[in-house]
Amino acid sequence: MTFIVDNYKLILSKLPKEIHLLPVSKTYSSDAIMELYNEGCKTFGESKPQELKVKAELLPKDIEWHMIGNLQRNKVKYIAPFVDLIHSVDSYSLLKEIAKEARKNNRTISCLLQIKIAQEESKNGFDFDELKEIVISKEFQEIEHIQICGLMGMATFSEDEEIVRAEFCEIRRHFNELKRTVFSANNEFKILSMGMSGDYLIAVEEGSTMVRVGSKIFGNR
Ligand SMILES: *Cc1c(COP(=O)(O)O)cnc(C)c1O
Repeated sequence: MTFIVDNYKLILSKLPKEIHLLPVSKTYSSDAIMELYNEGCKTFGESKPQELKVKAELLPKDIEWHMIGNLQRNKVKYIAPFVDLIHSVDSYSLLKEIAKEARKNNRTISCLLQIKIAQEESKNGFDFDELKEIVISKEFQEIEHIQICGLMGMATFSEDEEIVRAEFCEIRRHFNELKRTVFSANNEFKILSMGMSGDYLIAVEEGSTMVRVGSKIFGNR
C-alpha cells in the first residue's frame, strides 16, 4: 500500500461513517487518483475546469467528478456534459449559466450554493442575506436543469480554532434555516460541504456532511 492509500484510510477511520470523504485531486496525477480508485474510491474533487475535463476523459467512466473551485461562467461548458456536483456556485449569474449548459446537454446538474463567511477577500460566495433574497424569488424557483443539494463554505485560514469553529457553526445555522424554510420540500437538500485538510475534524463536529481533503491525502502540492 502506498502513502496515499494509507492517508485516505487513516482519515476515513477518523470520520463517522455517514460523512462523505471527498479526495481533492487537483494538481495530482491520474496515477495518484487510480491508487484510490483501485481501493474503491469513486468520487473526486477538482478545482480547474480544463484539468477536470482532461482527467475525466482519461480515467474510468464510473468516477463521479465534483467541481469544487472557483468557476468562471465561460468555463462551465467544459464540465457540463459530465460533472456530478458543483460545490462552488457563488452567484446567480453562474447558476443561470450552469442551467443553460445543463439544458444543452439534456441533463440536470446538482449544485451547492457557496456561502461566504470567512474574512478573507479572496474567498468567494454568497452573502447569506443576499442568498435568502435570491432563493425566495420566483425566477430562482422556476429555474430548470438544476438540483440544489445544499451548501458549501470555507472557514478563514487561521490557527485560532475558535474562529474556524464559529464560522462553520454559522454556515451550519444557515444550512438548517434554508432546509427548514425554502428547501423544506426538497429532499435532495442535504449536503453541507465544509472542511479541508487543516480543519475537517472541526467541520465535522460542527455538522459537515462532506469534507474536501487534498494535501492530507495526496501530500503537499
Ligand atoms: C484545494 C481545495 C480543497 C482541499 O485543500 P487541502 O487543504 O489540500 O485539503 C478543498 N476545497 C477547495 C475549495 C479547494 O480549492
